[in-house]
Amino acid sequence: MTAPPSPSPGGNVKVVVRVRGFLPREIERDADCLISMNPYTQETTLHAPEVDTSKPRSQARGKVYEDKTFTFDRSFWSHNESDEHYADQEEVYNCLGEEFLDHNFEGYHTCIFAYGQTGSGKSYTMMGTPDRPGLIPRTCEDLFQRIEEAQSVDTTYHVRVSYFEVYNEHVRDLLVPRTDPPHYLKIRESPTDGPYVKDLTDVPVRSFADIMKLMRKGDMSRTVASTKMNDTSSRSHAVFTIVLKQIHHDLATDETTERTARIRLVDLAGSERAKATEATGQRLREGSNINKSLTTLGRVIAALADPKQHRPGGRRVKEVVPYRDSILTWLLKDSLGGNSKTAMIACVAPSDYDETLSTLRYADQAK
Ligand code: ADP
Repeated sequence: MTAPPSPSPGGNVKVVVRVRGFLPREIERDADCLISMNPYTQETTLHAPEVDTSKPRSQARGKVYEDKTFTFDRSFWSHNESDEHYADQEEVYNCLGEEFLDHNFEGYHTCIFAYGQTGSGKSYTMMGTPDRPGLIPRTCEDLFQRIEEAQSVDTTYHVRVSYFEVYNEHVRDLLVPRTDPPHYLKIRESPTDGPYVKDLTDVPVRSFADIMKLMRKGDMSRTVASTKMNDTSSRSHAVFTIVLKQIHHDLATDETTERTARIRLVDLAGSERAKATEATGQRLREGSNINKSLTTLGRVIAALADPKQHRPGGRRVKEVVPYRDSILTWLLKDSLGGNSKTAMIACVAPSDYDETLSTLRYADQAK
């Protein structure tokens, strides 16, 4: 086995924000776009909405709206296609996906999360549509293209895929048919490889077409339930994992070395607060579990982004990273921290001040 590469000096956490265009319902109510982005400084500003003076003052009590500006590694303006700075799916991939795949071929694990309220563009960013594929299909396509180009007599490449969701702090395999009641998998911990999902389907794939078939199968199986906010809001975290193994056989010395990288692409559950969906009972429990994993994820990423973490031999510092506080962070432990690279894509809707502010604050603390 080759030794894993040492952490890169540039920091291992990247945070970007992407704003989507108006949906028909927003155009219908003549919504204002409350977001502006500066393509040169990467600043994103959330503008205070105009207060409706015709409403009784009591309705606006306690609300303070003001402009807020945040700076991220990148601000993707995906609001109106006619704008010269419009960032399409290809641009998002070129700015983020490509670089992360470079890291994978170098032997790093990577993890890309899409965070945001339901309807903010997470699935569009990760999966996309058949016409406008997102990060996952583009990563898969690029992966197989690179393998094809790099295939040689002394190096072979092996790719495996798994797909699971974390729903209400339970793990469900997305590559097996749904059962009622759902079959949840157990989590185990290996002394060498850390936490893992027992009996998770893990399929070897040989081509882009193979991998896309699995992605679609898993997508069909995702837990969706209707809420008052959005009929198909997704309440689970979907974790798509690609394992890339490179086996190098040195013909001169007859030595074999292996390099394994795990590529995690995660579509997180909607970040809206439980109360906003008027949730009760089961929904409220889901809501608090969603909040728990998202809060823990935010704390884990913030701890990893903290420069103190990058001290050599910082064993004591590592212990404060709260991986164990949620199933999601526990399972992704190997892909967060250490030699791994992490990116958070904060997806925002253009005209929802409260939710957007909460998403931008979340992303800001992860920097
Ligand atoms: P989420 O996964 O966060 O619930 P979706 O990805 O389903 O949100 O996006 C909600 C709607 O907005 C979808 O109809 C999607 O096609 C559209 N959409 C989201 N982001 C963009 C974008 N950048 N460009 C064009 N349409 C988008």
